[in-house]
Amino acid sequence: MKIIIEISYLVASILFIFGIKQLSSPKTARKGNFLAALGMFIAIVVTLLDQHVLTYEWIIIGFIIGGTTGTLMAFKTPMTGMPQMVGLLNGFGGGASLLVALSEFYKMKNFAQWSFATSTNVTVTLSILIGAVTFTGSLIAFGKLQGIVTGKVVKYPGQHPFNLFLLIAVVIAGVFFVVDPSLEWIILTITAVSLVLGILLVLPIGGADMPVAISLLNSYSGLAASATGFVLQNNQLIIAGALVGASGIILTMIMCKGMNRSLMNVVLGGWASAGGSGPTAEGASPKGDVKSVDSEELAMIFDVASKVVIVPGYGMAVAQAQHAVRDLMNVLESKGINVRYAIHPVAGRMPGHMNVLLAEANVAYDKLYAMEDINDDFPNVDIALIIGANDVVNPAARHDQNSPIFGMPILNVDYAKTVVINKRSMNVGYAGIDNELFFYPNALMYFGDARDAIVKLTHALKEA
Ligand code: NDP
Repeated sequence: MKIIIEISYLVASILFIFGIKQLSSPKTARKGNFLAALGMFIAIVVTLLDQHVLTYEWIIIGFIIGGTTGTLMAFKTPMTGMPQMVGLLNGFGGGASLLVALSEFYKMKNFAQWSFATSTNVTVTLSILIGAVTFTGSLIAFGKLQGIVTGKVVKYPGQHPFNLFLLIAVVIAGVFFVVDPSLEWIILTITAVSLVLGILLVLPIGGADMPVAISLLNSYSGLAASATGFVLQNNQLIIAGALVGASGIILTMIMCKGMNRSLMNVVLGGWASAGGSGPTAEGASPKGDVKSVDSEELAMIFDVASKVVIVPGYGMAVAQAQHAVRDLMNVLESKGINVRYAIHPVAGRMPGHMNVLLAEANVAYDKLYAMEDINDDFPNVDIALIIGANDVVNPAARHDQNSPIFGMPILNVDYAKTVVINKRSMNVGYAGIDNELFFYPNALMYFGDARDAIVKLTHALKEA
């Protein structure tokens, strides 16, 4: 039985690895997701058949409650609510690692078996520390994204030294625990301090920087699971956790690069010193007149263009306008106009959000350009058409040191000959700041829900 279990775990791990590999390209992502899910299915079945399972009652109860809640959440959560959902699930992962490590401790205590290896005591401590930080940190991240907790940067004097002090306190307590694992108050202190640390590390982070925080917490949840794998001596959990931890940290680094943040600052929490401390002050809001156009006027402008770049953002996702955008592209191309898409790494509300939507609408991958591959070409572009994007095209990020997005690389749409911005109003985007781009001399506002507006423009172009 043991050998069958280990081989099955190995097969599941290989499926995870191939699954993650295939997730790295939109072309193979669906297959990758399927392979990883198959791996997880095998792992769950094998674990349930394992002889260590004493009773199935609690497992069935947990399965029913967790399965029902998860299914309902998956159906009810809109695509735009995915970051919150991911944040919450990361938190549950961390919380599970915390509970497993604590229950291992109480198992030792109840059976008065203090003969566990030092390595087990170390991993129990790590599992509690990382699991607790991930749990409360993710709940705060969820609260910020959901608007329950302030999305603003929270700062107080001595913030970083205090966090460091708490971390050192946990490490010292961990050493005491490893030396004498029978000390219950030590393990409870480690748990309590780690829970507080999770809150303090994520609370300072401003809303605009939450995508990076979520992906880092995702990595932490993997590390916590891996540490728990060592506690339980389960190879499958060690491998799966390490994969999540490593891929999470790679994604965090990609997103840090996309937002021009340093990884160290993210790890320490509250790196807002790189930019401003909150939304632009009212007095500093951009002022002036905006020029707005309707679909017929816009069709005439497009009719004489030869190079167009479409910049999708969160609003395209809200309006589910990706199919309308693809139809517009087809009409433009039938008129001999070159059309490309510029994709900002944090456009929308989750990494790869725009790629997923455009792939769903069958837009060819070679039309999608990453920010660094297209930014220098904007001066040669006749029209940059922005569809429901705001923060990722806000020029304040380049020069306004008080802006919370200062330092974040943006798409240089303002260098195009004409910038057309489609959105419903002059409202702010996710970071809660005004956008001076709307007042630029080469900018034209095209107001309306993205799908309706793009359908109207396509009609007008066909008739032009
Ligand atoms: P923004 O959130 O900056 O702006 C979106 C704009 O879309 C709004 O200003 C809104 O204006 C407009 N909009 C909303 N609904 C519609 C609609 N139906 N039709 C047309 N327009 C609409 O989006 P961006 O994509 O530019 O930037 C993403 C932001 O989200 C960044 O700040 C990023 O940090 C953050 N973020 C990103 C995550 C990620 O992983 N990608 C995760 C979490 C946050 P109006 O109301 O006037 O229509």
